[in-house]
This record gives sequence, structure tokens and C-alpha cells, in this order.
Amino acid sequence: MLQNNHDALSTVIFYLSSTNLLMQIVQQIIFIAVAAFAIWLFAKNISIIRRNILLGKDEDLNDNKQLRWRNLLLLAFGQKKMFRNPLVAVMHFIVYAGFIIINIEVLEIVLDGMIGTHRLFLPYIGGLYTFLINAFEILALGVLIACSIFLVRRNIIKLKRFISKDLDGWPRSDANYILITEIILMTLFLIMNSADRALQFKGAAHYHETGNFLISGIIAPMMNGLSVSALVIIERSCWWLHILGIFAFLNYLPYSKHLHILLAFPNAYYARLEPMGKMDNMENVQNEVKYMMQPELAPTGETAPMKFGAKDVFDLSWKSLLDSYSCTECGRCSAACPANQTGKLLSPRKIMMDTRDRLEAVGKNIRANGEFKDDGKNLFSHITVEELRACTTCNACVQECPVSISPLQIILELRRSLIMEDSNAPQEWNVMFGNIENNFAPWKFSPDDRDKWADELN
Ligand code: SF4
Ligand code: SF4
Repeated sequence: MLQNNHDALSTVIFYLSSTNLLMQIVQQIIFIAVAAFAIWLFAKNISIIRRNILLGKDEDLNDNKQLRWRNLLLLAFGQKKMFRNPLVAVMHFIVYAGFIIINIEVLEIVLDGMIGTHRLFLPYIGGLYTFLINAFEILALGVLIACSIFLVRRNIIKLKRFISKDLDGWPRSDANYILITEIILMTLFLIMNSADRALQFKGAAHYHETGNFLISGIIAPMMNGLSVSALVIIERSCWWLHILGIFAFLNYLPYSKHLHILLAFPNAYYARLEPMGKMDNMENVQNEVKYMMQPELAPTGETAPMKFGAKDVFDLSWKSLLDSYSCTECGRCSAACPANQTGKLLSPRKIMMDTRDRLEAVGKNIRANGEFKDDGKNLFSHITVEELRACTTCNACVQECPVSISPLQIILELRRSLIMEDSNAPQEWNVMFGNIENNFAPWKFSPDDRDKWADELN
């Protein structure tokens, strides 16, 4: 009888441990499949964005590497321009540092998920582990507070640059979705640690002593009344939701203005290094003048028809296209733009958003047809002549942009196309162009009379 009972018990224990092992293996397989799919999808979307950016014209921005690395460190990593408003800069830095640094912890979560361990790094780094998790928790709390304040600024205080018309619809929701997602992710992280800590207090299997956690250590005692199985469900649910949320966030980035988290780095590195007021000469116009003076230099045979400025994304530099994907839609450019501030239609932020929208449409067109099929649209389908004419070329937008974007570069190219390809300029401008051509100055006086004003001084 005793022997029979013992055999039955052994069978049950064997069955339960096999079931546990099976469940563990199933979880690992599901995790690996989800992680592989999320990474594959992200890589695919990033390669589409890269292909779209490379639809732009060549521009060599590989000179002065030392200065470029300095820009990357100061502007992208150090967020130098943000510190003009120190309070907002500190909050933004916390959110950004939180995103980057807390991802170190995600590495452990991913490895745990793949190999079926729990807090893999704990036995190897001991006290340093507690220190790191505490640092992550402080950052997580900082992110929670900063994102809540950002939500209030956008939706309750309604700062002017966040309520302008160019943010209507998806862009406004996009900003809110991201802030809410960050708040949820950080909350899940803190609840997960709290439940883990409560399980440690109860001596639950697999939940090894980690030392005290500063934030979740305060919440954990409130969970003491819960059973071990309830705590495990809370801890595991938060663990899964946290990592699934991160995979979802990763794949949301390519559709969001938050892509700047990644693209701010190459954008700062490839920023144009010339002084801001310097406008590019139009090489083909320069060549025309050169060939008039020295006809022997003119190319013989058939040459491609000349094109001035930009009508569509293909005519812009790849850097302008990278700019459009890097735009954070923060509106600092529009807030500083004198045209925008005096009630004109122009908003440099909208120029960047319109360029990205058109680039996305062109990218979809290419994916659907294998090559670009004329859709009867171009950048002028998004950006009006009135907006373009309002620009004073003051460069305030370029100066203000925290991620080294130049809306002016796009405006100039579109305006060049309007004027030089379509002769679409107001009469006053045409008079000025004529004067520059004939008198080498915007005024109607002959260059020989230029010194006459000084005669009266004698
Ligand atoms: S350069 Fe043009 S778009 Fe930029 S701030 Fe000046 S007026 Fe506005
Ligand atoms: S161009 Fe720069 S300043 Fe303007 S909205 Fe985009 S990121 Fe902000």
C-alpha cells in the first residue's frame, strides 16, 4: 500500500515537473519567436527608410570628421541646444537617458526570456546589480514625472507651439501616444520589481535576494498580503507586458516623430558645417556663365536637360530627406520664424513634415510598383507658393533646431524651382532680378552711378 502511494506521488511530481519544464520551454519559444519577429520587422522598416533617404541627390558630407564627431557628441548626445531652457532640457534629458540607459536592463530581460533564467546578471555582479537597478528605478521615476509634465504642457497648458494647426490630427496624437506609452512602460517596470521584491520577502523559489530597491522597495511591503501565486502572476504579467511594450514601441518608431531618438545621431554627424548664411551656388548656372565666357569648355554632344532647384523629393539632397525623418516636430523653428510670428502661412516645422509625408508617399509608390510611377504629385502638392515666398532666409529656424535640421535648404530649393523653372515670382521680385542681372545690385541705378551719393558729402 505504502509502496503504491509512493509510486503515485513520484508520478505526480514527475508529471508536474515535466509540465513546468514544458511550460518553460513553450514560453522561451514564444519569446524567441516574438523577439525575432519584432527585430526583423524593425530592421525591414529601417531599411525602407534608408532606401527612401537615398532617393535624394548626392551630397558629400564626409569632410572634417573630428568636428562631425564633436557635433554628434554635443548636439545629439549632449543635447546642447536644448539647454537654452534648462528646466525643459533636464526633463528631456531624463526621458532620453531613461530610454537609453534603462535599455541596458532590457538586455537582461531579453536574455532571461531566451534562456529561461530570472535576473541572469545578479549572481555575477552582486552589489553592482542592486546599484544598477536602483539607478534604473530612479530614472524610471524621473521619466514618469517628466512625461506627465510633458502631457500637461501639451494638453492642459497648451503651449502655443503645440497647438498650431500643422500638428492637427495624427502628429498631435502621436506625441501623446508616445508619452503615455513611456509612462505605462515605466510603471510596469516598477510594479514588476515591487512584486519581485515581495516574492523575495516570502522566500519564493527562483526569486533570489537582490538587496533593497529604492522605489519598488517602498511599494513591495504593500503587496505582502497577496499570495505567492498572485504575486507571480503580477510579476510575470508586468515582465511580459513590459518587454512586449518595448517591442511594440520599437516598431512604432519608424511611423513616429520619435524616430529622432535614433536619427538625431547621424543627423548631427552629417550637419552642414558651412556658416549658416552661406547659400550654395547653383553649379549648373555657374557653368552656364563659364561656358559663355569660355565656350571651349562647354561639353560637346548631348547633355541632360538642366534642372533648377527641386520639385520633388528626388531633387533634394539626401541630407534634407534625412532631416525630414529626424524632425521631432517640436516647433522651436516655427516659434522663432519671423514669418510665422507675423501671421504668415509659413511654418518651417510644416515644411519638414510635408517633405516627410511626400517622401513616404513616394516610398509606398515604389514598393507598390517596383519603381516610381508618376502619381501627378510632387512637393508642391503639399507646400504652397505662399508659404515659400514668406521665407526671409534669416536662418532662425536652422539656429533653433535641436537636431541640426535646415528647413531653409528645402525652401530655397523649392523657390529656385518656382522661379527658374516656372518663372513663378511676384512682379517686384522680377524687377529686382533684372536689376541684379543688369546693374549688379537690386536697385535700378547703373553701377557707374553708384558712388554719386558721396558727391554731396564733398
Ligand atoms: S529662414 Fe525662413 S523659414 Fe527659417 S526662420 Fe527664417 S523666415 Fe522662417
Ligand atoms: S525642424 Fe527642428 S526645430 Fe523644427 S520642428 Fe523639426 S526638430 Fe523641431
